[in-house]
Order: sequence, then C-alpha cells, then structure tokens
Amino acid sequence: MSRYALAVDVGATKVALALVDRQFSVDFKQEVFVKENPHLWDEIAEVTEQLLDSAGGSFIGVGIGSAGPLHLDSGAISPVNIPVWRKFPIVSKFAEITENQNVVLHGDAMALAHAEFRLGAGQGVANMLGIVVSTGIGGGLILNDSLYTGETGNAYFIGHHTINFDGLQCACGRLGCVETYASGPRMVAIAQDNGWVGEPSFIALAESARQGNATALQVIDEGARALAIGIVNSIGSLDIRTVVVGGGVSQAGEVYWNPLRHHIANESRFTDFISDIDLRLAQLQRDAGIVGAALGVLDEAPATSLFQNAK
Ligand SMILES: [Zn+2]
Repeated sequence: MSRYALAVDVGATKVALALVDRQFSVDFKQEVFVKENPHLWDEIAEVTEQLLDSAGGSFIGVGIGSAGPLHLDSGAISPVNIPVWRKFPIVSKFAEITENQNVVLHGDAMALAHAEFRLGAGQGVANMLGIVVSTGIGGGLILNDSLYTGETGNAYFIGHHTINFDGLQCACGRLGCVETYASGPRMVAIAQDNGWVGEPSFIALAESARQGNATALQVIDEGARALAIGIVNSIGSLDIRTVVVGGGVSQAGEVYWNPLRHHIANESRFTDFISDIDLRLAQLQRDAGIVGAALGVLDEAPATSLFQNAK
C-alpha cells in the first residue's frame, strides 16, 4: 500500500480496525469484540501493531468513528455499550501507540454520512443530510462539498430534535425527540406497549407489518412520520435537497419507505422550496463505518472543527 490510514470503527458490538488507502480500498480488516472484554484496549493495541507491521508504505494517520457520547474537546469517548470506557482518551491513546499525532475522531453517524457522500448515495451533490436510523438516530451534514462538523463536532444531532413539546420523555431528558418515536428499539417498545407480541427486534416488527399486523403497521407509520417531520424541519432550516437515509431500520424495504415517502411528501407540501426533497437510500454496506472513519484523515476537503490531535 502506498499512502494509507488506520481506520477505527467503534460500534455497538465490536471495534473494527483496517487499513484504508486513498482509493478507499479496505485491507487487513480485523475485529475486536467489546462485550465483557477486560482486555479491550490491549487487544486493540495488538491488532494495531500487526496492521502497521503488515502495511509498509506511508502511514498518514488514524481516523476514528465512534458511537457516542463523544467528548471532542478532549478527544475522549464514553460509548454507551462499552462501560469500561468512560471519557476514554482514545485520540491520545492511538497517537501514543502509532507514534503519529494525526488522529481524527468523529461520531459514527457523521462518519457514515461522510462515506455516503464520497462513495455512496450522495456522490455528485454539493449538499447533503445523511441520517442513520438504527438503535439510535444520528446525522451528518455535508455543505459545499465538505463535511460540516459544527463547533463541537456534533452537527447534525437530529435524533434529539424535539418534534412534540408535550411528547414522550426521551432518554436524553427532553420531551418528544425524533428518536423517542423513530428508532428501531423505540418502535418495538411502543408496539409492545400497544399489545404487540413478537421477538423484540425491529426486523420482527417489520415482518409482522408485512403480514398485515395492524399495530406493527401503525407504529412503523408513526415512526416514519416522526422521522419525516424531523427531515422536513431540517430541510426548512438548511435549504438543501438531498437526504440519504441509512442504518438497520432503513433496510426494511417498502414497509418502511412507503410511509416515510408519504409523510415527507405530506409534511413538505406547504412550502415551495422544501417540496422537492430528494430522498435516497444509503448504498454502502459493511465497510461504510470503516471508510467513514478513514475519511477523517484521508479526505482532501478539510472538514471544519473535527477534533484533530495535530492541530
Ligand atoms: Zn432526546
């Protein structure tokens, strides 16, 4: 490999590491499982050493995409699913073991939006809102051909935009957040509260809806409506056209996309400049998180306000 980055994708069940070159080819991918793993960091350090040993060529730096919460001012992370990592200083840790100060951290949803923009459904547009609908709901914003990260690295926090100020209490503390209605686990929980029985997963809920279960259809419709309202509000704020939706829930097919398209059309019909939203399904599959993480150090267009150790 000529010039390459070490990409680190800190996800719900595992930390994936790989080398990614400037053509975005992913090599030597390895995974370290996080659940009840007391040696998590040691194993990651070991994998990192092996990867860098096998690479040769020129090592540019480390791009990290991580589940939140993130503490971008200090380059630390506290992923909900990794209790042993609280304010874990992942940026300085990687700088230390790789002896490279070019370490860039950003949120996983932002990394996925970035990957879709460069290599997936958002190719060729100048402005794009990327949304990930899975266990939670996150987003990432592309403006004028580059990733816009915001002042603290958390721009497009769409999951916790409230759409109902007297609504259900969200885990974040606010009332009526988009995520409270529209994430996979929340749709399942709301369906269960309404008497739906089935394996507690969104895949099972979607299958139940396909078979005509009224509660499943209703809850998915409401979840899609909540997301549609969040999207239309956002497009009204940003005045951009392209929205790419990815994540596990988005893979459910027409049982989800039909109501999503319907509600976006319904919510956006009152204002001309919002009424032609270009809604697209994310294209990248398995390696999207890895590529998005790598883009933190590989992308030619400089992103603003990412946490960069080398600043
Ligand atoms: Zn919230």
